[in-house]
Amino acid sequence: MRAAVFRAAGEPLAIEPVAGPSLGIGELLIAVKCCGICGSDLHMAELHSPAGGMSPLPRGSVMGHEFTGEIVEVSPQAAASWRVGERVTALPYIACGGCHACLAGQGYRCAQVRYTGIGNLPGGYAEFLRIGAAETLRLPDGVDWQRGALVEPMAVGLHAVNAARLVAGDAVLVLGAGPIGLATALWCRYFGARHVIVCDKVPERLGATATIAIDREEVVGRFKRIAGTRPAVVFECVGVPGMQQLAMDYAPAGGRIIIVGVCMATDHIEPVKAISKELTVNYVFMYRRQDFELAIDLLDRERIDPSAMLTATVGFDAFPGVFESLKTDKRACKVMLTP
Ligand SMILES: [Zn+2]
Ligand SMILES: [Zn+2]
Repeated sequence: MRAAVFRAAGEPLAIEPVAGPSLGIGELLIAVKCCGICGSDLHMAELHSPAGGMSPLPRGSVMGHEFTGEIVEVSPQAAASWRVGERVTALPYIACGGCHACLAGQGYRCAQVRYTGIGNLPGGYAEFLRIGAAETLRLPDGVDWQRGALVEPMAVGLHAVNAARLVAGDAVLVLGAGPIGLATALWCRYFGARHVIVCDKVPERLGATATIAIDREEVVGRFKRIAGTRPAVVFECVGVPGMQQLAMDYAPAGGRIIIVGVCMATDHIEPVKAISKELTVNYVFMYRRQDFELAIDLLDRERIDPSAMLTATVGFDAFPGVFESLKTDKRACKVMLTP
């Protein structure tokens, strides 16, 4: 099968023939229909990312963890629940499916977890992909391949907004207008926030009630002029050094901060800012299976619509070039491979 293969940090991905996956116990094989490029994939493929070094990706890895596909093969252990031809997405890992963490929808806490698309298990930048039956979710007819591939970033935003315990009418500040910032903004709107103000160098309107250009405007003053108050919650959705400090600077006394952006570099903060304001700082990681389920259901019923997040879909031939351009082009939002 064809796949977009990682060769070395800083080198473009190579479209190469690779061995097709063979199914393990309780697994499904899908023909990948769509797979989104995640910011973390761009970071992993770079030598010096502002987010810092992730564990180095082995040569020959296939990335991609935001995918949809059609089942083409079912392992015997999964045959009672799944059949060929079903349209699905899956949590981007394969775990045991039966331990307490797995049953609670948090398979990433399973002792046996292996992650899809980050060097551990091959990912969705390929024609075919192995997924775990326990981690797979059906896509209803109302969720097409593209929107289905947005379920993963939408679940990240949903998990973050759940952690914030918003009250209807709250004013919130979202730092970062990438896919995760926009997903967070959409969920804040959905859960009744009155002002959802997104702040970035190139602020994106989607999901926001207003935007602030972070390097041209004074953020706190402008927020107060728009919302008439300071933010009840600040969501940090960038994940590079310096952002946690900015979130603390922008939060008011008694405010809450949700750290969604995954910063893997050493960062420095002034704890006294957070202490003197008595801030509540909440780190969040990934999502639960239930977040995927709710995102799929609300997409199907058109209660939430992230489709404007999708900048482009490209085939294998254009994929390595587009992947390279996304490392510097911060105007593009979500780009997907259609293998
Ligand atoms: Zn991702
Ligand atoms: Zn488990």
